[in-house]
Amino acid sequence: MIIDLRSDTVTKPTAEMKAFMMNAPLGDDVFGEDPSVLQLEEKAAQMFGMEAAMFCPSGTMTNQIAIKLHTQALDEVICDKLSHIYLYEVGGYAYNSSVSVNLIDGDRGRITPEQVKKAIKPEADWYPNSKLVVVENTCNKGGGSCYELDQLKALSKSCKANNLAFHLDGARLMNAHVKTGVSTGEFGAQFDSISLCLSKGLGAPIGSVLVGTKDFIKRGRKVRKVMGGGMRQAGILASACVYALDNHVERLAEDHSKAAAIGQLLESKNYVNEVLPVDTNIIIFKLNDKMPGSDFIQILENNHIKAVEFGPQMIRFVTHLDFTKGMLEKTLETLDGISL
Ligand SMILES: *Cc1c(COP(=O)(O)O)cnc(C)c1O
Repeated sequence: MIIDLRSDTVTKPTAEMKAFMMNAPLGDDVFGEDPSVLQLEEKAAQMFGMEAAMFCPSGTMTNQIAIKLHTQALDEVICDKLSHIYLYEVGGYAYNSSVSVNLIDGDRGRITPEQVKKAIKPEADWYPNSKLVVVENTCNKGGGSCYELDQLKALSKSCKANNLAFHLDGARLMNAHVKTGVSTGEFGAQFDSISLCLSKGLGAPIGSVLVGTKDFIKRGRKVRKVMGGGMRQAGILASACVYALDNHVERLAEDHSKAAAIGQLLESKNYVNEVLPVDTNIIIFKLNDKMPGSDFIQILENNHIKAVEFGPQMIRFVTHLDFTKGMLEKTLETLDGISL
């Protein structure tokens, strides 16, 4: 048995999901004729109370399309310094959209309206135009941290008052939804656009959706096409996403409680210096200097547990659909048995 805690992207489609995919009605989605893609897009738009949605192969693509649509060259994007769009999308904001980023030093990835206000550049020949704010919920590098709805409402209001577009990188938004009880409609009401990943904790093999206004998504389809993301019988994938939304949302609570159990154990171990608060399905902790990160990864590997280093002496575990109760027990036992 291999226990894979590297990411919640490692999940494989369940037998039920595969059966659902095999029966999905299909068509050519570049012609807008794939019933299963249309079903997913309608479902996503409705969930968030938005006008329209678009199915894409990845969350990187949905975020990059959103940045492209909300900005023009010489604009800037305001976001936290831990943001996925800044750290892990190959600098796509510069490559695809010719914009710069203005980084905020937030609280585990979460930013405030006051910080945004301070970050906005005044009008001058030598400054880029502050145009777009992007927040991440949950925040991956913040250890799966969540925003309170009031914080998002205040940010939304502040963006409107300052003529800034507001995009949510909701790769793991359903984890935040399950954790905080904030409805998808409430999330939708705060943003101009939202990107949601189905291939993380929700367990679909591939796929993200971008939601926004009709006009935004219409323009987005052209950007998706030029990026090479126009897919034909994509319903075979979209149907897995429909299945995931219908069956794999509420169970995220199990991933959260497993993560909490691991976090709690780590707090008590002498090889750990610090564990970030475990809010959802991500556990980030700092190792004691006497336990080099590569040694720790090797000890886990010897016990058939896979994990990744997430910065110097930092380790990340992510719980997910394929991380069973038995695997949790084995993981706790292994972690408990390690010492300096
Ligand atoms: C995974 C992830 C994405 C998108 O990643 P893809 O691998 O391109 O689907 C975007 N934002 C966050 C916070 C993520 O964790």
